Amino acid sequence: MSLPPEVKTYRDLIAYQYAQLIGVAAGIDDHGFIFSKFYKLQAGEIEMSSLTKEDKYQLQEGVASCIYCGSEDDIGFDHIIPRSTGGPDTISNQVPACQSCNSSKGDRDVIDWFRNQSCPIPRLVWGKYLKHLYEHRKTEGTLDESLPNDERNRWEGAEVTRTVSKRIRKRYRDSSSETPISTGRSEPVNRSLSEFGAE
Ligand SMILES: [Zn+2]
Repeated sequence: MSLPPEVKTYRDLIAYQYAQLIGVAAGIDDHGFIFSKFYKLQAGEIEMSSLTKEDKYQLQEGVASCIYCGSEDDIGFDHIIPRSTGGPDTISNQVPACQSCNSSKGDRDVIDWFRNQSCPIPRLVWGKYLKHLYEHRKTEGTLDESLPNDERNRWEGAEVTRTVSKRIRKRYRDSSSETPISTGRSEPVNRSLSEFGAE
């Protein structure tokens, strides 16, 4: 999908893409919902979860298959942001991937690589990528720099995968059911989001 005109800076880009992820995690594909999350993230009213949470999720899921294609053969680790372009050699920057996907991706950035794939980007990869981008830009002091056209185009067609695991769905259902229905849907959604790291 293309970026809306409201996305002007790197901070906006990250907030907008993370809002997409929140929508996916909550199972809500609604323009108004996504934009309300986008504005809150942009204003700092809500924050992205820590990378540690993503790592914990990865461990809990016990992913023994390739995050990209699901293969269970030859599983190693892929650096989401390649080491050659400054990606850290930490678990936060790695996801389980098969040899075939790993070599197909090579030294490319995950967003660039996915443009040539027929499937959307896995949620875990999307979350980790955005958090690294945020930290990197924050350190550089360039979060509020306006987004160049090539960066804007790079995200064209990039989409976070719409499927969430049964475990996440169950957590969402369990945490939702703790809240009385009369309080409306925003509360259970927010509560459950903390479970996937989107607080
Ligand atoms: Zn694979």
